[in-house]
Amino acid sequence: MTPHPLAGWRVTLGLLLTLFAAISTAWAEPEPTARIAVLAYRPKLETQRRWQPLAVYLEQSVPGWRFEINALSLPELEEAIARRQVDFVFTNPGHYVLMTYRNGLSSPLATMVERADGRNLAAFGGVIFTQISRKDIATLADLKGKTLAAAAKNSLGGYQIQAHELAHLGITLPADADLIETGMPQDRVIEAVLSGRADVGFVRTGVIEDLAREGRLDPARLKILNRQKLADFPFVVSTHLYPEWPFAVMPSIDEELARRTAAALLAMPHDSAMTTSIGIHGFTVPSDYRSVETLLRELRVPPFDKMPSFTRQDVWTRYRLEIAGSLLAGGLITILAAFLIVANRRLSQARSIYRDVMAAQPTGVYRLNVSGRGRWPRLFWRARGGRRYRFEAINDRFCEILGVSREQLYTDAGLFRKRVHPEDLAEFSRHNREARENRTAFNWEGRLLHEGHSRWVHLESLPRRADNGDLVWTGVLYDISERKAVEAELQRLATTDSLTGLANRHHFLAQTSLEMARVKRFGDPAALLMLDLDHFKLVNDTYGHATGDTVLKAFAATLRGSLRQIDLAGRLGGEEFGVLLPGTSTESARQFAERLRENVAAMDVQGWGKTIPVKVSIGVARIAADDATPDNVLARADSALYRAKSLGRNRVEVAT
Ligand code: GH3
Ligand code: MG
Ligand code: MG
Repeated sequence: MTPHPLAGWRVTLGLLLTLFAAISTAWAEPEPTARIAVLAYRPKLETQRRWQPLAVYLEQSVPGWRFEINALSLPELEEAIARRQVDFVFTNPGHYVLMTYRNGLSSPLATMVERADGRNLAAFGGVIFTQISRKDIATLADLKGKTLAAAAKNSLGGYQIQAHELAHLGITLPADADLIETGMPQDRVIEAVLSGRADVGFVRTGVIEDLAREGRLDPARLKILNRQKLADFPFVVSTHLYPEWPFAVMPSIDEELARRTAAALLAMPHDSAMTTSIGIHGFTVPSDYRSVETLLRELRVPPFDKMPSFTRQDVWTRYRLEIAGSLLAGGLITILAAFLIVANRRLSQARSIYRDVMAAQPTGVYRLNVSGRGRWPRLFWRARGGRRYRFEAINDRFCEILGVSREQLYTDAGLFRKRVHPEDLAEFSRHNREARENRTAFNWEGRLLHEGHSRWVHLESLPRRADNGDLVWTGVLYDISERKAVEAELQRLATTDSLTGLANRHHFLAQTSLEMARVKRFGDPAALLMLDLDHFKLVNDTYGHATGDTVLKAFAATLRGSLRQIDLAGRLGGEEFGVLLPGTSTESARQFAERLRENVAAMDVQGWGKTIPVKVSIGVARIAADDATPDNVLARADSALYRAKSLGRNRVEVAT
């Protein structure tokens, strides 16, 4: 068969066209490449292989672009982003948030939906586990002080989610435990726990199930802590769930490419052969990643590990109310404090004035609380012995008069009573009782005894209700010893004869009058003597008036020496004397007078070198119940005396 004449040309043309096409293809601009960086949390090669189908799918869906998958470790990924060597970033949510802050990564185009055990997951969490044999670790609280293994501190699912969960229980990592960072992949964490290097491990959800499926781990060897029961979640999980990985875009890339890629991702048929080979369900509209941001913020991990620079304006804007409130409260406290300081100063001034005034008092001043209430509650006070009186204030002078220290008086108010002279105690008690019962002024004069000395005091006090309702006595204590001495001296002067020291006429008559009253009342016998020295004018004339006085004094001494305690001798005038003898019969009085007369006669008063003869005549009279005045008795005694004189002197005569 002869070939067609044109057949050779056809073949040649065809060859030429093919060649042209080949050349034109070779010369055409190469397709631009979009680089997708994927974080490898399992071995890099595995990650690379896993995600390769995505590149193929995107190349088909976004014509004109080549897509390249780069599986990178965390530091490699960060460096790539920093150097702008990638266009798309597919990383875990925590890392994504960090990158948005550090490198201005844009909002995610889509969120991955994982395919696991026949369910679709757009969320993941953390797993906290230990060896099944560890009986000592049952709850999260047991983690304190244990050794923890985690892939890396900057791993969200592998560390931060778990740390956040623990922080809410008050366990702060890494301070409250020993942390071993095993590095990626997270398989190493499980190895660390199973080998006993770590007590507890943290991994992302799904890791345990992956290893189990691959036959590399028997999950029964692990005990999951704080296991959560989530109906639609197919993995063991110990924490809250967070949105799955975002597919994010670098801010610098072509907007058209971003848009078309996003559309392709969202349009990716779910559960297609391609997604199944990757092991995901597909992609969905981007999740909200704020929960992740909150977690990072609360854990203070990058990018929130440094305090944001706060301006004063920020502080004011945020804490306006609190600041204003604090300033107001501070102002009020300052004003109150100022008032308090002023009041305190006034108080201490008043106290010093009070002290000065009290100290300057020439009299003792006190305030006594008789309500029995002390610094302690009443019950307690009773239990301590139920003391009823308590000094509330005492000045120095009061202590001085009493001869007792202030402390002693404060501890025992009864000391005052113990100082009262036994002879005056009855009177004191009576006054005290009356004043207490009638709530009237207490007014008492008496003696206080201290170490053998007695001193006269005058106590005046008034009852008053104190502000708190207690009954208090406020009083003054005068030392009246001097006045008493003067009074006693005046009394002595008024009743005594200055020459002889015997009672004067006035006092003698007064006492006689009292004795007469006693006689009348009780019918006791009593006698009165009248004495007159014999020829005394002669003594005066012979020896002089001064010697006469000496004789009178000697006579008075003899007279006093002869008397009992209850008798009284008085000088009635000149050389005339009286003696009052209570409880004495007339006969006894006569015998007494006789003895006295002899004693006088025996006196030895010297004059001109020899004894002056002194004689006395005595008239004795009975004090009768019907005597109206002392003069009646005196008159009878006087007439007896007159008889003695007339009968020769130096003798005793009894009135009839
Ligand atoms: P008769 O025995 O009668 O009593 O004689 P008489 O001298 O004592 O007489 P009369 O009692 O009348 O005298 C009183 C005298 O006592 C008069 C006066 O000189 C003297 N006389 C009176 N008072 C005092 C005195 O105070 N001192 C002195 N030295 N003599 C006095
Ligand atoms: Mg006479
Ligand atoms: Mg005479």
